[in-house]
Amino acid sequence: MNAMVATSRNFRQAARILGLDSKVEKSLSIPFREIKVECTIPKDDGTIASFVGFRVQHDNARGPMKGGIRFHPQFKENVEDAGIWRSVDPANAAAAPATIWPAAVDPDEVNALAQLMSWKTAVVDIPYGGAKGGIVCNPEDLSKGELERLTRVFTQKLHDLIGIHVDVPAPDMGTNAQTMAWILDEYSKFHGHSPAIVTGKPLALGGSVGREAATGRGVLFATEALLAEHGKSIQGLTFVIQGFGNVGSWVAKLIQERGGKVIAVSDVSGAIRNPNGIDIKSLRKHIADGGVLKNFDGGDPMLQNELLLLECDVLIPCALGGVLHSPSNWTPNLHSERENAADVKAKYIIEAANHPTDPEADEILSKKGVFILPDIYANAGGVTVSYFEWVQVARPSESFHDTLAHLNNTSRIKIRMNDVSFVCKLVKNIQGFSWGEEKVNSELQRYMKNAFQDIKSMCRSLDCSLRMGAFTLGVSRVSQATVLRGWGS
Ligand code: GLU
Repeated sequence: MNAMVATSRNFRQAARILGLDSKVEKSLSIPFREIKVECTIPKDDGTIASFVGFRVQHDNARGPMKGGIRFHPQFKENVEDAGIWRSVDPANAAAAPATIWPAAVDPDEVNALAQLMSWKTAVVDIPYGGAKGGIVCNPEDLSKGELERLTRVFTQKLHDLIGIHVDVPAPDMGTNAQTMAWILDEYSKFHGHSPAIVTGKPLALGGSVGREAATGRGVLFATEALLAEHGKSIQGLTFVIQGFGNVGSWVAKLIQERGGKVIAVSDVSGAIRNPNGIDIKSLRKHIADGGVLKNFDGGDPMLQNELLLLECDVLIPCALGGVLHSPSNWTPNLHSERENAADVKAKYIIEAANHPTDPEADEILSKKGVFILPDIYANAGGVTVSYFEWVQVARPSESFHDTLAHLNNTSRIKIRMNDVSFVCKLVKNIQGFSWGEEKVNSELQRYMKNAFQDIKSMCRSLDCSLRMGAFTLGVSRVSQATVLRGWGS
């Protein structure tokens, strides 16, 4: 099932349960703005390459639109707007080969993810709307210089349509703090120094401690909240984790530190299992040292598509959307060679990925008695700490060199150095306070706990599943803001 159909189905069901006015429902189902841009860069070898980039801004009733930017070449069939890579030999352009990459960063996927961000920011009650973006490319195939040029061209095309109080990007699949630093720099050329234009940026540019681990840590807090409801804790339970990128590797580490036994993990290279528990610390080191997950000797290799079907207490999909599906919604993919929902044996599913479960699979799993913690709550830790970052101020740098860098962007406070006075502005996000890691983590835990209680009270009063509890909570908060702001033109 395509991502937008699945997302709309959940939204419409929530609207029905809430008895939402049809005008409000219609307005919330249409994105505020969809942007598609062409990004052409010179490659290191002198050839020219063109990429397609997207940003979908879904809703801003509760605040600036917020969401990640992904760089990904995911294969998907029947996508109209395929990303096109043209590798052009300048001497013989006419004969140059063209490779079409069917896109996952396509209008359908990005639209769905942008809408999910609106509900997600509302579920954890942070003052944002929702957006999402991406470029169809394989970051593995691009040098650092090529990635920088691509990011800068994308920012040039977008800069008038994003803004500190308009739309604030962040990292997602295939992007990281360095990508955010390039966006910040390029945006600042047009609008003056603007650290709060992105979150998930490096600490030296006003990033927040704890941001990199935040999505994984949020997943941990969400898992603990759900298990506590059932009188359980992570200690001694078995976990299967699909995906070992930023989110999956942090989730695995934190789960193991809390005494959980991680019996299988996978990434694009393959999957491994060990019924006695995989040593996650060593696996993370193996990968940090340049190793490949499937070659790690602390587990036995297994098929990726069987990992989702392993006997375990908790299954945590941390990768792409649509990996758990029903017979009518199945297409072959890397993670599953056959429809799989009916064969899942986990007792709990925590959706660290965005929309990993299609709605029909959701029904099958719920009927089987599997408890599913939905994505718009389970993976909200990243954007929650993005919010903390957005309102914090960067710690002043200690080195003279860094101080000079600050001075270049400055005015406001007076600094005296080598008998010379400078008037300068601090590297500012929005408000001007700075938290240590402990404070960031404890605030994140507070937001996640509060959101879980809010979801549970929706479930109780509407007699619905955790997914519908989260959707009705998100949709009701956004629609209330929408109605209060009115429709004046
Ligand atoms: N990409 C993350 C998400 O999908 C974080 C977004 C953000 O921090 O704005 O939730």
